Amino acid sequence: MVSTLSTNEATNEATNEAIKPSTKSFSRNQADIIIVGGGMVGLTLALSLAESFNKMNRTIAVFDRSEWQVPQANCALDLRVSAITRASQNIFRNLDCWQYIEAMGVSRYEKMHVWDALTDANISFDAAEMAEPDLGHIIENKIIVAGLHKALQQFENVTLVAPVTASEAHWDDRGGLIKLENGEQWRAPLLVAADGANSWLREQRGINVDKVPYNHHALVCHVQTEDPHQKCAWQRFLPSGPLALLPLQNCHQCSIVWSTSKEQAATLKSLPDESFNEQLSEAFDNKLGAIKLISDRATFPLIRRHAQSYIDDGIALVGDAAHTIHPLAGQGVNLGLLDATTLAEVILSAINKGQDISQRKVLRPYERWRKCENQKMILAMDFFKSMFSDDVPLKSWLRATGMNYADKSLELKKKMMLQAMGLQGDLPELTKMTRDPALD
Ligand SMILES: Cc1cc2nc3c(=O)[nH]c(=O)nc-3n(C[C@H](O)[C@H](O)[C@H](O)COP(=O)(O)OP(=O)(O)OC[C@H]3O[C@@H](n4cnc5c(N)ncnc54)[C@H](O)[C@@H]3O)c2cc1C
Repeated sequence: MVSTLSTNEATNEATNEAIKPSTKSFSRNQADIIIVGGGMVGLTLALSLAESFNKMNRTIAVFDRSEWQVPQANCALDLRVSAITRASQNIFRNLDCWQYIEAMGVSRYEKMHVWDALTDANISFDAAEMAEPDLGHIIENKIIVAGLHKALQQFENVTLVAPVTASEAHWDDRGGLIKLENGEQWRAPLLVAADGANSWLREQRGINVDKVPYNHHALVCHVQTEDPHQKCAWQRFLPSGPLALLPLQNCHQCSIVWSTSKEQAATLKSLPDESFNEQLSEAFDNKLGAIKLISDRATFPLIRRHAQSYIDDGIALVGDAAHTIHPLAGQGVNLGLLDATTLAEVILSAINKGQDISQRKVLRPYERWRKCENQKMILAMDFFKSMFSDDVPLKSWLRATGMNYADKSLELKKKMMLQAMGLQGDLPELTKMTRDPALD
């Protein structure tokens, strides 16, 4: 059973609070920031700003075209799950919403095992080698959204409206104006596009995107494994693309991300369950015994996208609206959460200096910071995709040599683990642990 925050529930709660002019300088249909898209990234941006904005009598409006849902115990698992890094966990912890996410269900993974189908070269990572409790968490996307939504409920300066589609956007020297399909019009100095890979708001502003197909489609589903997953995230590199088994809470259940050609993904999606189970068990080298499908199957085209600009007067782009990458390293939303918290940091610093957040030049530090970091990850994904997804003999030899060498070097492995945990690079303050985990 899934209970739903309908438009009425969502708007009543937030809007009723928001239109109290005596306590808040928040008049209806006017906000300081409008976020189009209340997915994981848009809601994280709202939450990163909410407390400071509350103190400054500033307001935020978030619009989403889909209903926000509160997952109930025993409801079907979301087909979309994300590997969440330590940096992202710290963000959620510092924003006081990790406890809600954790209570709804997270799956800690302590190990990673990666191996190459052609050469059998392999590399293993273990959190214990770094005296860490885990390497990250696998979490259903809808749980992350619900946890963020719950944490936002306490802020009367945040209006959350869904389901409602933003259908027109205009900009002038006062900022941006959004028209909603329900007939309402909203204004704010800054509009933020957090509306995903095919961002409507980005398109309205005419911001171009560099697009390169990875020539892979990802098939996702959940499976039951004969042997326990051992809290390990498994990935086998096949010549056609990587196959990942991500451990879920039940020690015999995993989420699959199988990246392969468009044609093979379509075939795998339509195979009878039994044939699919056989092909999957074989593709996974029977590492966890027989594997059995326990959910629907869905496929997604994988495309590398990078917006040519993250900002302009009256607009900023975050998350998939700014970039999408191959899921082979499970970094997409983690980069988006870093965008959201960095943008919040830049906005708050600008306001404290009395600057106008609708101006491109004021937002420029955000673009400089995140575009550079995201570009590095995009290049790294291109490298891995090109090195691991074919059977050219020289590449096979290079990857076998590289993996076997790295597996024997603890120093190198520690660096790779820190990278995978999101703890390297130029990070925003919210990723740094400040809140005592014992309080969760
Ligand atoms: C197969 C696969 C596996 C992945 N695995 C991982 C992983 O393990 N780890 C990881 O970090 N990342 C992973 N990713 C990437 C991750 O899923 C995305 O980066 C993430 O979902 C992006 O979040 P977002 O909030 O930016 O966008 P979205 O999740 O797309 O949210 C956008 C929101 O905007 C709303 N919206 C859109 N248009 C409008 C409009 N006009 N008006 C109002 N609302 C609108 C939508 O309803 C939606 O709620 C994976 C991706 C794929 C395809």
